[in-house]
Amino acid sequence: MTTLEPFLRSSYLDATSRWNIEMVTHASNISPPNDALHGSYAWLLMGDIHLLWARWFAEGVVDPDRYRTVDNPFPLVFARVLEHMPRVMPQHTDMQRRDIATSISTLIVDEISRRSEAPGRRTWTISEKQELWDASGPTPRCWICGYQFSTNAGHRFLGKRVALDELPTWVDFMRPRGVGRYDLRVEIDHVGALGAGGDEEQLRLSCGWCNRNKRDYSLLYDAPGFMRSFEHPTIGRVSMPHSFWVVRALAMQKSCQYNSGCSSSIETTEMTVSPIRSDGAPNPANLQVVCSSHDPLAGRRLVARDTYRSRMNR
Ligand SMILES: [Zn+2]
Ligand SMILES: [Zn+2]
Repeated sequence: MTTLEPFLRSSYLDATSRWNIEMVTHASNISPPNDALHGSYAWLLMGDIHLLWARWFAEGVVDPDRYRTVDNPFPLVFARVLEHMPRVMPQHTDMQRRDIATSISTLIVDEISRRSEAPGRRTWTISEKQELWDASGPTPRCWICGYQFSTNAGHRFLGKRVALDELPTWVDFMRPRGVGRYDLRVEIDHVGALGAGGDEEQLRLSCGWCNRNKRDYSLLYDAPGFMRSFEHPTIGRVSMPHSFWVVRALAMQKSCQYNSGCSSSIETTEMTVSPIRSDGAPNPANLQVVCSSHDPLAGRRLVARDTYRSRMNR
């Protein structure tokens, strides 16, 4: 508890102090103590901020957008980065500069492929889909949330002419899969980088909801930090986690975080999220992955789909 109070105090920057260099520098010198992140995804919060800083550094050397239309951009990007190395790393040897240039170029090329990967850019043949479906076990599930695809959705995925599944009457307000028309369908998600060094494509099946909410961002901090609100029929007005945070937590955690231990994982069970502290907002510092048997929101989680739609964001 010794470091929590100074941390919070240094972070309380009102409208004036937020624009004061001494105050902000002071805040930057106080690391978040474990108490502040206890029980949450401290590793994910810290990991994603480091990834973001590294990406900003690399993109500050060479702008990925300038190479977006180039096929196989790595050699060009690498040559350009290397040209800047004497200024970026004046005290390093040529050998060290080449190593650093390789890392910077890899980050840039990964970002180029992420930005150019427009939805639906790639179409899959039925035999590619069949192969992936067959490799996904007897009852294929979304690799992110563990949702087991319906037989009908599987048929559609494999090119049979059947109707879309009816959307459910009830949806989970924390992870509202089933509100959108394509939420329940089977889609293909690129997991591996397509970028540097010709990494192998890693493909997984995901539900339409997870796929849609995953593809626009790559790190927790890419998604807008403000929270939408929902007028819950019994709890009242509550903050809603950004769907990308939910997807990021589910895909990284993959298993139920029930305190006393639970062996459920997305390979066999559908997962969702809840706040850790029930009165707190479900933000990335207060979010946990749970199965339906250990759900602190049980009984209040499902709301009628129409209610969800009409009471969001009021
Ligand atoms: Zn899913
Ligand atoms: Zn559980």
